[in-house]
Amino acid sequence: MATKENIVVKNCLKPLTIGWCRCSILALMSDTLPLTIEPWLMYRRNHELVGSLLLSQMPNLQASQNREESVVKIRVAVKQREDGHKVIVGSAEVELELNCQRCLQPLVKVIKADFELVLVKHEHQLSSVNDSDDAIVCEDSLELAPLIEQELILSLPMIPKHEDCQAMYENAVDGDADRQQPFANLKDLLS
Ligand SMILES: [Zn+2]
Repeated sequence: MATKENIVVKNCLKPLTIGWCRCSILALMSDTLPLTIEPWLMYRRNHELVGSLLLSQMPNLQASQNREESVVKIRVAVKQREDGHKVIVGSAEVELELNCQRCLQPLVKVIKADFELVLVKHEHQLSSVNDSDDAIVCEDSLELAPLIEQELILSLPMIPKHEDCQAMYENAVDGDADRQQPFANLKDLLS
């Protein structure tokens, strides 16, 4: 009898837990952004997009760290700059799990990227863009995920490290242990 009850409880709990996880992911993703954007239309309508995509939609960024999934928060708008160029401006933010290059342990880090890309309709217009500007050619629609992915990859730290890495402390302790070795030998002689 007790076994049967346990089975019933287990069967009840499992779907409930899965249901809760799905709900929370859906809640986070209720502001999901479209896969493609139309920047010229966004400019004409003065439309700013605020929402999120999933890390799994950015396979290269996903592969550069340990997390299977994370939510990428994004804000993007199209504006006219003082020099007349239209620019895609925005920011993106994602929490990733990198590996600390000092102790090789996981390092959870929020990666943020702010970007401003000059928008041109045709490739030949790129010659009018300053060398210091990043530019993007877009006739009407643009895939959003690869654009955000590239900006976040550029913002990854070259050498991820814990700010207060334990490896530094452990190395210091190892050093002390080496220095104590002669005394340990002395102790052996005395006993
Ligand atoms: Zn570390």
